Amino acid sequence: MKVPFLDLGPQHRALRAEALAALAATYDATRFCLGKDVDDFERNFAALLGYPSAVGMNSGTSPLHVACMIAGFGPGDEVIVPPFSFIATAWGPIYVGAKPVFADIEEGTFNLDPAAFEAAITPRTRGVIPVHLFGLPARMDEIMAIARRHGLFVIEDCAQAVGARYKGAPLGLIGDAGTFSFYPTKNLGACGEAGALVSRRADVAARARLIRVHGMEQRYHHSIVGGNFRMEGFQAAVLNTKLPHLSSWTERRRSIARSYLGGIRLEEARLPAVPAHGESVYHQFTITHPRRDALREHLAASGVGADLIYPVPFHLQRCFAGMGLGKGSFPVAERAAETCVSLPIYPELSDDQVSAVIDAVNAFK
Ligand SMILES: *Cc1c(COP(=O)(O)O)cnc(C)c1O
Repeated sequence: MKVPFLDLGPQHRALRAEALAALAATYDATRFCLGKDVDDFERNFAALLGYPSAVGMNSGTSPLHVACMIAGFGPGDEVIVPPFSFIATAWGPIYVGAKPVFADIEEGTFNLDPAAFEAAITPRTRGVIPVHLFGLPARMDEIMAIARRHGLFVIEDCAQAVGARYKGAPLGLIGDAGTFSFYPTKNLGACGEAGALVSRRADVAARARLIRVHGMEQRYHHSIVGGNFRMEGFQAAVLNTKLPHLSSWTERRRSIARSYLGGIRLEEARLPAVPAHGESVYHQFTITHPRRDALREHLAASGVGADLIYPVPFHLQRCFAGMGLGKGSFPVAERAAETCVSLPIYPELSDDQVSAVIDAVNAFK
């Protein structure tokens, strides 16, 4: 049986009529940039997930950038980020002239290690960007306690964790700002680029709303430096048709994860951690194995797609070679990059496909 690593086809075929009708309505009303669809999406998203409001944007990278502008990071400032994530986590500080400083992740959860975070703090540190990687909430109590002691601005990168909660609290409301991506492959995906920013702080949300449209409060009057971070009407229209399905999609991801956790028996493999502080929404189901490449080839030969997410930690990326951080700088992130392999996990997988993945993994010698 073939099990592609990811297939966006089934979900979009099932929603085709509804999504195209929504797009047609937006087209006919020429609501292309912001407008009613975006307003509706922000309200629906906030209501569904427990946010006071949401600010729709044109990608998941944009709210990271905007949050760094709001935090006031700039030249000479350091912002701590985990080196094992999607690269965009590190872009925000760079876009505002600040320096991303890496702090290692924890074994098992792939998330920022609070002790490593604290050890990376210098007199120049102004902020931290914990990532809820693969859908699993980071250790926010410890991270917030350290951040408060040092007066740091906390940006939660929730791109992979839409709908997840930390000790009952919606992610993104624990720090000063939370950022989401609705890139098509995320748990809630647009038909193109989209993202959002949330905050428990009304001042942060209002500032983000203003920066999103060129810092323009009154037409052609610009009170602060902003940019173009507007969400498109088409993307909001599609997202509005998808939102009512998010809870059941998340439940299905969790049910597949339970099958994997209960069914996979592979010596030397480490399965995703299940900490008590918050259940993952399983954007990825990432395991580690010392012979990861051989395991991946074996899976491919059995028809199971498996992907390397992420094969190179930030400090070993060529774009950051100038930092002079060599191999050995962040051993846990490096080991994760060398041993990780992600299995298919999306709501449209059939039970037979899930069983096929388990059988294929268990058959690895
Ligand atoms: C996807 C992602 C982003 C960036 O989102 P885009 O919509 O691709 O700009 C940022 N951080 C993480 C952790 C992501 O997974």
